[in-house]
Amino acid sequence: MDEPRTIPPRPRDRLFAAVTLVLAVLLLPAALARHPGRARELACRWALGMRFPAEDLTGLTDGAMAAFTAARTEALWRHGQLIGLTSGYRDPHVQQRMFDEEVCAAPAPRPRHECSCYHRRNPTTSRASRWTRAPRRRALARGTVSKYGSEEEAARWVATAGTSAHVSGDAVDIGLFDAAAWLSEYGAEYGLCQIYSNEPWHYDLRPEAVDDSCPPMYADPTHDPRGREKRAPVSWR
Ligand SMILES: [Zn+2]
Repeated sequence: MDEPRTIPPRPRDRLFAAVTLVLAVLLLPAALARHPGRARELACRWALGMRFPAEDLTGLTDGAMAAFTAARTEALWRHGQLIGLTSGYRDPHVQQRMFDEEVCAAPAPRPRHECSCYHRRNPTTSRASRWTRAPRRRALARGTVSKYGSEEEAARWVATAGTSAHVSGDAVDIGLFDAAAWLSEYGAEYGLCQIYSNEPWHYDLRPEAVDDSCPPMYADPTHDPRGREKRAPVSWR
């Protein structure tokens, strides 16, 4: 649950995909020599690492890592589809700051000077946060993100630290529209499900989906009973 949005298909994405697939093929012999039983996975990982050098998979649970790796390995080899991570694990401070920014950046009904956002007192340095911080700041500067006038409204779009599956390492955000569309069709085979219809980039680990398919989606996080049960005080201020 968070801010990243999927990027619409661009002509250059097909070129990137083709080049990455060729790279994976070229790397296959080396991967075979290294791990004969996992050569496709390894070659895929190496090739995607070159295409998405900024992505950071650290902090994902073993289950989420295995599901995500299996899904994007198959996506590459079966359909030539690249799946890159824009955000995985987040520490609680990062997640709460994202929520606070959505609320405190709003021009009304809470003027910015009245906000005492958690993140102003607790700067964080996690790698995952750096990945999304810069574009987010630019968006805030443009005034394109500061549109939620209350904590309740912000909660429809950004989870608190107490409700986000990113904090437990069981969620991944996907950057490209085509990649999210691929996961929408095949993600259940790997236990990855879109949970909220207003967040097509966000996938939770749901191992039971492998046998039972993904559960119906909620309109947004505020409809998720898990969140209502776990929801901590909306702000740590
Ligand atoms: Zn997310």
